[in-house]
Amino acid sequence: MKEFVKPWLCLCVLVCAAGPAHAEWVRRVTDGIMGTRITVELWAEDPAKADRAIEAVLAEMRHIDDSMSTYKPTSEVSQVNDKAANGPMHISKELFDLLTTAKEYSVITDGAFDITYASVGYLYDFRKHQRPDEEQIAKALPAIDYRHVILDQQNQTVLFSQKGVRIDLGGIAKGYSVDRGIDVLKSLGYTRAYVGAGGDSRIIGDRFGKPWVVGIRDPRKGEGNVIARIPLVDAAISTSGDYERFFEEKGVRYHHIIDPHTGHSASKVRSATVIGPYATRTDGLSKTAFVLGPEKAMEIYNRLEDIDAIIVKLDGTVVYSKGMQRAQPAP
Ligand code: ADP
Ligand code: MG
Repeated sequence: MKEFVKPWLCLCVLVCAAGPAHAEWVRRVTDGIMGTRITVELWAEDPAKADRAIEAVLAEMRHIDDSMSTYKPTSEVSQVNDKAANGPMHISKELFDLLTTAKEYSVITDGAFDITYASVGYLYDFRKHQRPDEEQIAKALPAIDYRHVILDQQNQTVLFSQKGVRIDLGGIAKGYSVDRGIDVLKSLGYTRAYVGAGGDSRIIGDRFGKPWVVGIRDPRKGEGNVIARIPLVDAAISTSGDYERFFEEKGVRYHHIIDPHTGHSASKVRSATVIGPYATRTDGLSKTAFVLGPEKAMEIYNRLEDIDAIIVKLDGTVVYSKGMQRAQPAP
């Protein structure tokens, strides 16, 4: 089999000291879109133009938030949740395509990624430390199954095959918005840039002969503590952690990734980082390890030629996908 070359693992050996004379790195950090922190950084000849480009990225992200957030009753996704069990419902091409992608990830991950997790997931409120009891879970659980979401490409419609089905794109929308942000920058001619939304980031180009370096946080320590620094060029990276949104009750940690088979918090690892070509894909795949456990998830990650992964197991040990092992220096 042909060896697949993962470009982000080729550490750049080019030596280029700096870019053109008047250009500079422009960076902006914005809070409050999709409930997370957005970071945009780009190499720009003209800082005023760069500001407008960043505005365009943020506008795109606000649009995605408005149409896909389940916190907004007027969003297209909320409308789908209200009506799609009544009959086929026409939706935008953008949402249709993302639902199609989401289903594809459900198949790849043996059902670990499943946007219908929300059929039970909506009963949790991690901020208010609320969770459903066993009876509520048992009643809602049959509605979790990505196969309940029936997509008709010709008519661009979605239908839920039964009542009680709800979808939530929280496990994929940030990655998608990062990809759309990168598309905006590319269309404006930028070739060196970073776009990040919470745990999901994507990079185009390098930093003049050097890679971008993204740190992976130690799941049990504060934000500045990293377990690894990953050099990246033209790649996306997503980390899911059990420390993001959680509460503890009687020593049990309840957090925001739900096992579609049980309706309970999926707690088989502490964190999972996925590296790949697109942030939509890395975001969608980073939940898998929590549901399936490190061994099964790593099997899936290793099978996907465009994907690498780093998993922090429950005992704190770190495991790397095959491609990452190759990239490490020999002892
Ligand atoms: P973040 O929201 O910080 O990007 P993650 O990428 O780890 O964090 O995604 C967690 C989100 O994924 C949850 O808040 C929820 O919206 C969604 N989610 C939870 N469980 C699942 C699941 N089994 N399949 C798909 N999405 C899920
Ligand atoms: Mg994410």
